[in-house]
Amino acid sequence: SIPLGFFGGIGAASRSGVLIKGGNYLEALNHVKYAVFDKTGTLTKGVFHVTGIYPAEAFTKESLLETAALAEMHSTHPIAASLREAYGNELQTERVQQYSEISGHGIQAQIDGRLVLAGNAKLMEREHIAFNVAQQAGPLDEGTVVHVAVDGTYAGCILISDEVKEDAAKTIASLKKLGVVKTIMLTGDNRTVAEAVGRQLGLDEVRAELLPQHKAEAIEQLSASKKTSDKILFVGDGINDTPVLALADVGVAMGGLGSDAAIEAADIVIMNDEPSRLVTAIHIAQRTRRIVW
Ligand code: ADP
Ligand code: MG
Repeated sequence: SIPLGFFGGIGAASRSGVLIKGGNYLEALNHVKYAVFDKTGTLTKGVFHVTGIYPAEAFTKESLLETAALAEMHSTHPIAASLREAYGNELQTERVQQYSEISGHGIQAQIDGRLVLAGNAKLMEREHIAFNVAQQAGPLDEGTVVHVAVDGTYAGCILISDEVKEDAAKTIASLKKLGVVKTIMLTGDNRTVAEAVGRQLGLDEVRAELLPQHKAEAIEQLSASKKTSDKILFVGDGINDTPVLALADVGVAMGGLGSDAAIEAADIVIMNDEPSRLVTAIHIAQRTRRIVW
């Protein structure tokens, strides 16, 4: 049976905006030694701003952005919303005849009868689209890059950038003080962006350019190498990382940005998306433990 004190702890956490789905997860928070984070929407705001548009010949800035926004019309990825917002004009559904999301890569769509790809360098490589970064006018290594190709030919790229959440650095520092031995970020974004975020937040380890299945493998490897009593916490926004939430000892989802599937799969939900609520939850777990045992 679950000691009564846990109910008090779960209630206190819920009043602080943290939904804990059972006393066992509250107790597990006392043993977290590895804190693993997704980047976009978890440690960063997930709100991208366009910082540069670099069309290839045959495109203008406007037509490149329009093509990307049309490709992203039906996507719930934070990148998609940002590109639609940057384009600003209304998008006509009938222009998009087909659409599919390639997880960890981007979008493939049929727009006005043409095959459009919008996504990262991995997507371009996978679809054998030649592009020469050196030819680009802009500093491609300074942000997240959305490359666009139309009917097999490179159409240019859009540089976008996101910011870290206000409380993210403080959260990482507090977790270390609370006994977390390793803080790790797993991201599908490029290495330059990932490393910049890692430095800004003081993360111990950063792994970039990962596909969703690589994130799951990283958790499995960590699980296999750790002591049983040490717990792995994973925090994600639920876009592509629902399987990872289930693999961690304690899976935490962001409730605001997060998908319904993630909220369902998570053991703990942070309602207002502030990572620092984790620290509050661990404090509550510690207090509950003193009351219970
Ligand atoms: P993260 O690990 O940062 O949460 P994801 O696994 O969701 O990222 O995506 C990894 C990468 O795949 C993104 O950084 C982006 O380059 C690309 N990508 C994913 N979805 C899209 C999309 N809808 N449009 C463009 N690029 C995308
Ligand atoms: Mg994500």
